[in-house]
Amino acid sequence: MEKMIITGAGLCGTMLAIRLAQKGYEVELYERRPDLRKQVLDAGRSINLALSDRGLHALDMVGLRDVVQPLMIPMYGRMIHAQNGETWLSRYSGREQDFINSISRPGLNKILLDKADTYPNIRTFFRHQCTGVALKEKEIFFLNRETGEDAIASGDMLFGTDGAGSAVRKSMMGSSTQLSFEYKQEFLSHGYKELTIPAGPSGEWQLDKNALHIWPRQEFMLIALPNLDGSFTVTLFLSFDGHTSFSVLNTSEEVEAFFKAQFPDACALMPNLAGEFFEHPTPTLGTIRCFPWSAYGNALLLGDAAHAVVPFYGQGMNCALEDIVELDKDIDKYPGDWEQICHSFENRRKPQADAIADLALANYYEMRDHVDDENFILKRKIEMELEKRYPDYHSKYSLVTFKEEIPYDLAKRQGDRQDAFLLEYVKGISGISDVKIDALHEELMALS
Ligand SMILES: Cc1cc2nc3c(=O)[nH]c(=O)nc-3n(C[C@H](O)[C@H](O)[C@H](O)COP(=O)(O)OP(=O)(O)OC[C@H]3O[C@@H](n4cnc5c(N)ncnc54)[C@H](O)[C@@H]3O)c2cc1C
Repeated sequence: MEKMIITGAGLCGTMLAIRLAQKGYEVELYERRPDLRKQVLDAGRSINLALSDRGLHALDMVGLRDVVQPLMIPMYGRMIHAQNGETWLSRYSGREQDFINSISRPGLNKILLDKADTYPNIRTFFRHQCTGVALKEKEIFFLNRETGEDAIASGDMLFGTDGAGSAVRKSMMGSSTQLSFEYKQEFLSHGYKELTIPAGPSGEWQLDKNALHIWPRQEFMLIALPNLDGSFTVTLFLSFDGHTSFSVLNTSEEVEAFFKAQFPDACALMPNLAGEFFEHPTPTLGTIRCFPWSAYGNALLLGDAAHAVVPFYGQGMNCALEDIVELDKDIDKYPGDWEQICHSFENRRKPQADAIADLALANYYEMRDHVDDENFILKRKIEMELEKRYPDYHSKYSLVTFKEEIPYDLAKRQGDRQDAFLLEYVKGISGISDVKIDALHEELMALS
């Protein structure tokens, strides 16, 4: 039986271990951290995520969708919070059945790890930190963080699913024979801070639990996603430097005053705002693009290790899980030929990863600057109407989020054409009643 070594037991690596075990391979899964099922979690790491159709499709593939279902809270749209306290819901789609789901990251990771434990052909090693890879020799080196000892694993294939800071990727970059490794890392000027709106006195949600809440303020924004225990995880996206930035929020009074002025309704629901603000880290946000993702046909990067994106389309995890669905197709297509599997996978998948990276960056500006802009709101209203009436119309957001059968790059191309057309169109009308919907639909369809 061929032996597969996976580095990183996050969402992507654990899902990969399960799928390879289901296909009959022997799998060793190594993770730097302790077993999260036995740990109190780090404060301030992204606690919940938006799970949508691409991720759900991957969970279906490994037989976990029903197990994950009770953890999900449907979110039907963005609840926009204006500075004066006014709120309105901008739905994600004109179709009732299209929504995204808030899910606990550790909750989902636990389900995947529990499932991995049910396969006798998966062995999981926690507290094993990858320190380097001998690519040609198919060996991977670990530091056992419990004993301080070094360990070596060798296998027929090595997978790097060790996230944005991937040690496996660094070894590929440093490999003297891998001369043409392209690597680009772009950071936003903004970082983020995770905070909490706790449950109300009876354990109730203090905001509408079926929405992703946004407080867009041009240069910065706050968002909140619901958790099952009645709380919301709140994330502030703010510049590190400048007039309004993390650098000027240095005391409890400054933090309280900033939140009171900018997000008064949220601030009123955050009794431990300043405490959390100073306890929690302020991570950076970046995009990582690299290529190739494989070396010698015996090592392959997947998930954030290959293509980390900024979180503004809610697709990083969905894309990482979709990687497994796509790899699975290549494993079936080229049985046992790992060189061919790796090339086919990376060549098909790279343009898709680049597309979602670009979409996520563009959505950062859209969420921050435009969601409360009049033309943007009218455009969204028209798109809702089009989606309600015509089964063949899908907005760019819907193409990316709800149409997992359409690759990201095609979704982006089609969506960009539609957006450009509609943004011009709304300039020539004064409201939704001016729209000749059948004619507009025809014009949009002609763009495909
Ligand atoms: C603030 C924020 C919000 C987000 N929101 C969303 C969202 O709503 N929807 C969405 O789809 N995506 C979202 N994402 C993106 C999502 O978190 C990632 O795309 C996803 O976690 C990638 O999974 P992964 O398994 O590839 O990497 P990771 O989740 O980073 O997992 C990597 C694993 O490898 C381990 N590891 C690292 N280094 C080593 C080493 N040297 N040796 C051994 N193990 C190692 C790590 O401990 C970790 O367990 C968000 C990201 C951020 C930062």
